[in-house]
Amino acid sequence: MDNAAERLGHIRSRIETARQRFGPPPEHVELVAVSKTFDATAIRPFLDAGQRVFGENRVQEAQAKWPELRASYYGIELHLIGPLQTNKAREAVALFDVIQTVDRDKLAGVLAAEMAKATRRLPVFVQVNIGLEQQKAGIPPAEAVAFAERCRSEHGLEVAGLMCIPPDGAPAGPYFAQLATLGRAAGVAKLSMGMSGDFETAIAMGATHVRVGSALFGAR
Ligand SMILES: *Cc1c(COP(=O)(O)O)cnc(C)c1O
Repeated sequence: MDNAAERLGHIRSRIETARQRFGPPPEHVELVAVSKTFDATAIRPFLDAGQRVFGENRVQEAQAKWPELRASYYGIELHLIGPLQTNKAREAVALFDVIQTVDRDKLAGVLAAEMAKATRRLPVFVQVNIGLEQQKAGIPPAEAVAFAERCRSEHGLEVAGLMCIPPDGAPAGPYFAQLATLGRAAGVAKLSMGMSGDFETAIAMGATHVRVGSALFGAR
């Protein structure tokens, strides 16, 4: 498999097979193509092949390549999947369509204010530190439901779902199952979980968004 269209077709068919195999299946699983570290030249073949939903983990890096790509392709949906500092919130709101990494009140408040100023109300995901890892961002699982509720009622954000990155080197299934349980408790419909190595497991546990980088773009 050496071209973008073939890789994309292969990943999409694996997603669809996993979606149908496990019940009750999510209606639709969105493939978020994670293009971090790849430049516009590497991304274009995926746009040409019809992919429109992309994920980036750094605001500055995304700013350097996406305005140009948006000028040439319709319907791009860009998700921020990396940690966001409050001093970058304005730029993030201007550039992204979905913020998947809301994990603290200060950030939620600043994002809400920037969205109001820009009159751009973006859906957000609450990032949950599902393995309670010191080095990872995210709200602790025990606080996730209350935080999602505050995001809605105090900050006025549109909370679409929950997002997590499970610990490396441990089976991810139980962590995905826990995120699904938290999602039900929080009353959100969407779950962003699963990457190149484990997206089928995530779909089995109810993922509605999988974030696939290296299986599409190659090793970073
Ligand atoms: C890099 C990254 C991915 C994609 O990882 P791959 O293993 O390359 O598929 C997914 N989610 C987040 C948050 C990432 O930073």
